[in-house]
Amino acid sequence: MHVYLNGRVVPAKEASVSVYDHGFLYGDGIYETMRVYDGVVFKLDEHLRRLYRSASLIGLTVPCDADRLKIAIYETLIANAFRNAYVRMTVSRGRGAIGLDPDFCPEPTVVVMCQELKEYPAEYYKNGIRVIIAETKRNLREAIDPRIKSLNFLNNILAKIEAKKKEAHEAIMLNVNKKLAEGTISNIFFCKDGILFTPSVACGILDGITRGLVIELAKREGIQVKEGRFTKEDLYSGEEVFVTNTTMEVMPVSAVDSITYSVRQFARLLRKLYRREVDAYISNIKAEGPSLWGLEE
Ligand code: PMP
Repeated sequence: MHVYLNGRVVPAKEASVSVYDHGFLYGDGIYETMRVYDGVVFKLDEHLRRLYRSASLIGLTVPCDADRLKIAIYETLIANAFRNAYVRMTVSRGRGAIGLDPDFCPEPTVVVMCQELKEYPAEYYKNGIRVIIAETKRNLREAIDPRIKSLNFLNNILAKIEAKKKEAHEAIMLNVNKKLAEGTISNIFFCKDGILFTPSVACGILDGITRGLVIELAKREGIQVKEGRFTKEDLYSGEEVFVTNTTMEVMPVSAVDSITYSVRQFARLLRKLYRREVDAYISNIKAEGPSLWGLEE
């Protein structure tokens, strides 16, 4: 296994980050996760745009431009010979003296890791996954904006622990105003009377790239989409529920707490449209040239 660390692709066992790194000490940094289909990173520009946005929201200057980051990602994929993979890019504040001051860290740490993609079981897509409403509330937007994809994931981890205790796959967090926010690693949708509902960004969520595309695909299909403030009772009364993220794509939900859902019509349709979009994207990128960062045969 190889990883990219500060300008070089090196064997993973030789890649080490200092114990003084503020990412390790304080969770001071940001990251992105991406999915690679047949050697092509899906929506790479969108992910990098969000990475730079997260960095800017914490006053962190990424030490290279988007083109250099793209090369870093593809170099790492090539070194591992992965064609269907999961990529994680991390940028931390870097190594510095103990103490919160970001100025203690002259050089951010940039890491790209990837691993072969293990698809979720087909049974999950067929029958749906179980989710719970967590007691843990989503970080207050005014305190740590969930649009910052930060290395400090404790809020989500606490909700994940709740899900695990209840043998559920995902935990949906409410915000402090008791409105639906999002899952620990996903955005949530529900459907009622042919309308698709999802919490608005103003509820304090990460504006997922999958969420954005699913909204666009639904609208293109003539489905009415309402982004707004909803309660858990709204979710309970939905006819169908699904969650979205880069690796799960569109994942149906079979139960929220003790409420069960047997309808998977929207999830099935939107996952099909999503996959079609992925295929079109991959073919377009491949059509751009025989060699995209040298990854083509
Ligand atoms: N919310 C949270 C908290 C997440 O960690 C993720 C995964 N990045 C998402 C939503 C979904 O985002 P995306 O569709 O961009 O993967």
